[in-house]
Amino acid sequence: MHEMSLCENILQTLQQQANAQQYSKVKTIWLEIGELAGVEADALRFSFDSVMQDSIADQARLEIIDIAGQAYCSHCAKNVPIQQRYDACPECGHFPLQIVAGDQMRIKQLEVE
Ligand SMILES: [Zn+2]
Repeated sequence: MHEMSLCENILQTLQQQANAQQYSKVKTIWLEIGELAGVEADALRFSFDSVMQDSIADQARLEIIDIAGQAYCSHCAKNVPIQQRYDACPECGHFPLQIVAGDQMRIKQLEVE
């Protein structure tokens, strides 16, 4: 299951940061998920609690921030909104576009103690 391994990656990052920044508990995680990242927020939430169990992020709250997909159209010479990774430009139909936002998942902020 894709989302399960994503949660395991998140936990790994948290543990590395905990060592570096010397915190022992994560209380809240703000996670940015791009519209084009191919991540199911619901499935991620579902995996999150079980993966974080008995870790430094046990019972941590997960706040998901949706990031809209955006791409640069060289024909229009501007950024345009897209919903799918392989969408053509909604204004002129140009393809392919260069994705500039919303194609990744990252930890934005942590509340720790
Ligand atoms: Zn265009």
